[in-house]
Amino acid sequence: MNKRVCIFCGANTGNSSEIIQQALVLCDLLVEAGYDLVYGGGETGLMGLCANRFIASGRAVIGIRPKKLIADENSHSGLTELIVVETMSDRKNKMIELSDFFIALPGGTGTLDEIIETYTLHKIGFINKPSGVLNTDGYYDGLKILLDKMDDKGFLKEAAKDLLVIADTPDALMSEMRLD
Ligand code: AMP
Repeated sequence: MNKRVCIFCGANTGNSSEIIQQALVLCDLLVEAGYDLVYGGGETGLMGLCANRFIASGRAVIGIRPKKLIADENSHSGLTELIVVETMSDRKNKMIELSDFFIALPGGTGTLDEIIETYTLHKIGFINKPSGVLNTDGYYDGLKILLDKMDDKGFLKEAAKDLLVIADTPDALMSEMRLD
């Protein structure tokens, strides 16, 4: 079975062509490295664009969605598998179970929630699966400042902070997470 990357990213597309372009470059690198995709299962936004990239390259793509979202909007029609769960928590647990590592691209609060959860579970030893963040155009500089503040004020140990890989380019993220 191929290893799987779980990608968290915007359900919206955003308004930055650089963010979209860099997200797709990273998808291509992950495809070339042989990874299949686990994600939120929607067809819209940056999320949908990334899924399309994996699907077009012939990789397996697993979408995981709660019933409520399926009732509200279309799921992606090209998925290898759609897994339907009850709640958003069930969904995150399933994403974590099925994936080998996690990457956050730019997105909104949903994306932030997801990557902080996987990083925190790794940090406290509930999972041994790394998390990384693509910091295109400094999108996550604010998160870096907050993590440094937590370290500075004694709420986050430096070694634990370094478990979350934050890289400015797709190439740097691939090599810092040792994915290539
Ligand atoms: P946000 O960053 O707030 O746009 O939320 C996007 C993240 O939350 C994605 O990584 C998805 O896993 C999840 N998510 C939020 N909205 C949806 C949706 N409509 N369909 C599927 N997943 C979603």
